[in-house]
Amino acid sequence: MESTVTTEPITTTTVLTPATSTTNPAITTTAAPAPTTTTAGAPLVGRTVVLDPGHNGMNWAHPEEIGREVDIGTGTKACNTTGASTNDGYAEATFTWEVGQRTVPLLEALGAKVVLTRSDNDGWGPCITERAAMGNEAGADAVISIHADGGPEQGRGFHVIFPAVVPGLTDDIATESQRLAESLHAAYRATEMPIADYIGVEGFSERDDLGGLTLSDVPVVFLEAGNMRNKTDADLLRDPGFQDSIALAIADAVVEFLTSGLRADNR
Ligand code: ZN
Repeated sequence: MESTVTTEPITTTTVLTPATSTTNPAITTTAAPAPTTTTAGAPLVGRTVVLDPGHNGMNWAHPEEIGREVDIGTGTKACNTTGASTNDGYAEATFTWEVGQRTVPLLEALGAKVVLTRSDNDGWGPCITERAAMGNEAGADAVISIHADGGPEQGRGFHVIFPAVVPGLTDDIATESQRLAESLHAAYRATEMPIADYIGVEGFSERDDLGGLTLSDVPVVFLEAGNMRNKTDADLLRDPGFQDSIALAIADAVVEFLTSGLRADNR
């Protein structure tokens, strides 16, 4: 099974571009804090962020292991899947890995301890149950699961998935996860990717059938960074410059989530 990569925080001072949040997410329920005007220093010192790059590069070669059913509390799901790909063969697993690699140094520069749920893109798994357990065992302050969708070819855009309230499973993390979703949505609006026009509501989607969400005991969201089956989205998703903007959006969102607004019981 894959080992967990843990890296020590460093203390480099980095100023990130604040997320523009000129639009109102449909599900905003609390007063939206003003965009962070500066994140100079190391606002994430003492915080742990788990990045979960979805899927894995060799999942396709292990259909039986990957296809094994696992219990996610609200039903059963495959241990993992091969993930989506662009029409010309750029795999979602590669995309999520590359974005994760670009995000780690940004978060570390902000002082965070970062844990990845897989150590490379050359293996298979781990199961979604194990990925969720890593976030829990790390005592993560936030978990971001990185994905890109395989939607209809005409459909464009990103959406952020947060856990539905499932009594006994997610009722303790749903509110904070929704707040994390709002932070990520607002930050991601600063990229060139539009809000999804083929799924969800205004770029948000609530799910009770994703093990990464249902089994989490810490705030968690999935980023579906765009639609790999759409040519325009695909060209963006595989562009290194755009991947950098995704990483910046994730880092901005984590800072926003962990340093402003309602701290609730997260700390
Ligand atoms: Zn995925």
